[in-house]
Amino acid sequence: MGGGVLVGGGLKSVFIKRVPLGNILSDEVERQGIPILRGKKLEDIKAAAEGGAVATFQDGTSVSGDYLIGCDGVHSRTRQIIDPGFQGPAFTGLINSGGYTSGVEVPSEPVKE
Ligand SMILES: Cc1cc2nc3c(=O)[nH]c(=O)nc-3n(C[C@H](O)[C@H](O)[C@H](O)COP(=O)(O)OP(=O)(O)OC[C@H]3O[C@@H](n4cnc5c(N)ncnc54)[C@H](O)[C@@H]3O)c2cc1C
Repeated sequence: MGGGVLVGGGLKSVFIKRVPLGNILSDEVERQGIPILRGKKLEDIKAAAEGGAVATFQDGTSVSGDYLIGCDGVHSRTRQIIDPGFQGPAFTGLINSGGYTSGVEVPSEPVKE
């Protein structure tokens, strides 16, 4: 599922596949009793008269809260709404690549979680 690299006696980086990481985070959110509404697509955000924010979804439903955190990725609808002048993300080109393998000798021991 993942591992880490020890450099100079300290854990410097941790590798974990994205799906297990997502499952760990959503399991913890639900363990803390925080509801996750799946399948909702953010359409609009408005400041509430009494303070806080109201998020409206494409299915016509809405939720309100004290504040709103947009974690909706590189094509963020939240960013489109709060910063309509943003030109959009720019492709950086390939900056890294990697993969999983076995039977390869490496100079340090991988740390398994
Ligand atoms: C193939 C691939 C491999 C990668 N490998 C690595 C890696 O090995 N290591 C690494 O560090 N990074 C990797 N990345 C990059 C990493 O996945 C992203 O940097 C990271 O997921 C960004 O997190 P985020 O929360 O900003 O957005 P995301 O993870 O993209 O999450 C955004 C979420 O918002 C949801 N969403 C979007 N629009 C709406 C809307 N209107 N309403 C409601 N929800 C919405 C999406 O469905 C999604 O669930 C990889 C990316 C790809 C595509």
